[in-house]
Amino acid sequence: MKRIYMDYAATTPARPEVVQAMLPYFTEAFGNPSSIYSYGQEAKAAVDQARTRVANLIGAREEEIVFTSGGTEADNTALVGVALANESKGNHIITSAIEHHAVIETCEFLEKRGFTATHLKVDKYGLVDPDDVRKAITSKTVLISVMHANNEIGTIQPIAELARIAREAGVYFHTDAVQTTGHIPLDVNQLGVDLLSMSAHKFHGPKGVGALYIKKGTPLTPFLHGGGQEKRRRSGTENVPGIVGLGLAAELARLEMDGEVRRLTGLRDRLIAGLMERIDHVRLNGHATKRLPNNVNVSVEYVEGESMILNLDLEGICASTGSACSSGSLEPSHVLLACGLLHEQAHGSLRFSLGKWTEEGDINRVLDVLPGIVSKLRAMSPLLKSKK
Ligand SMILES: *Cc1c(COP(=O)(O)O)cnc(C)c1O
Repeated sequence: MKRIYMDYAATTPARPEVVQAMLPYFTEAFGNPSSIYSYGQEAKAAVDQARTRVANLIGAREEEIVFTSGGTEADNTALVGVALANESKGNHIITSAIEHHAVIETCEFLEKRGFTATHLKVDKYGLVDPDDVRKAITSKTVLISVMHANNEIGTIQPIAELARIAREAGVYFHTDAVQTTGHIPLDVNQLGVDLLSMSAHKFHGPKGVGALYIKKGTPLTPFLHGGGQEKRRRSGTENVPGIVGLGLAAELARLEMDGEVRRLTGLRDRLIAGLMERIDHVRLNGHATKRLPNNVNVSVEYVEGESMILNLDLEGICASTGSACSSGSLEPSHVLLACGLLHEQAHGSLRFSLGKWTEEGDINRVLDVLPGIVSKLRAMSPLLKSKK
């Protein structure tokens, strides 16, 4: 049976050419970029080239890119780094109710240490209201962090507008762009952000490597201390193979982006329309158009998300319910609850995230298989019986 992977928002396979490009840096070109002899300089040249490629993908300058161990470290560094660097100015952070755990938990860490955080509510589509941002800013606010697109429901926030409000108030702005970098056109100057997080494994690079864009002049207290790499902003010997992989993944994503956005948007909309047509009591979560080209998230009433996932898996189809981190726990997704869904609607949610190797036939297969699974589960469902 052909396996159909539709969980690209959780992670993506590294592209074969990315893996090939990384391999020499484990063996013959293994040097430490800080060494001044030729081995080291070869490695340094590879890191420099990757930095240029990553900068080009987001319209940044090379010196504004700091390599990290992934999206989580980029988020932690941005929040803790800016909070500590601005402690004398204030102790207030603004964020949204639907952030990734890497941002939520970092805010909680800071809240236990004297900071306060405002968690902005979102509307039923998952959108932050710019007026709420304006109203939440106080004389103590030092940082606003709102994600570019949500990993569960795919809603794309009006970041340029939110960042403008922050700039006018003299507040730094960070965005977690892990779901958008390499997926949709993105320019840090057009967005007007001061900090932006990305992660290689979400766009066909390797796991365990990412980057933080830090706009020139943004004060940031380093998180990792040691040898002073990355212009003292992130110590530790560079993950050269990982950085090379991130760089090539960024370059390929940039070159192929327009075509992929068009292709995936078509597949996404076909899947959404097909699910609505073939299954009763299905609602789309997130926004119809302000949405990642690869994200489909629906609530199927009177069915458990986990049961649908397991039954889809038996058919060779990989999808998810909530985010990868929250599946396996019984807590409904904080994102869906923030959008106003009832607990049972949140529990009946399914996310299909499409990607490079998703084809029309895969969409058809899901549409052929899922209606039967839903009918079968509903026939056994105590949720449905109690409604009758
Ligand atoms: C995956 C993800 C992260 C975490 O990135 P890692 O590289 O896996 O640490 C952070 N934010 C969002 C929105 C994500 O989707």
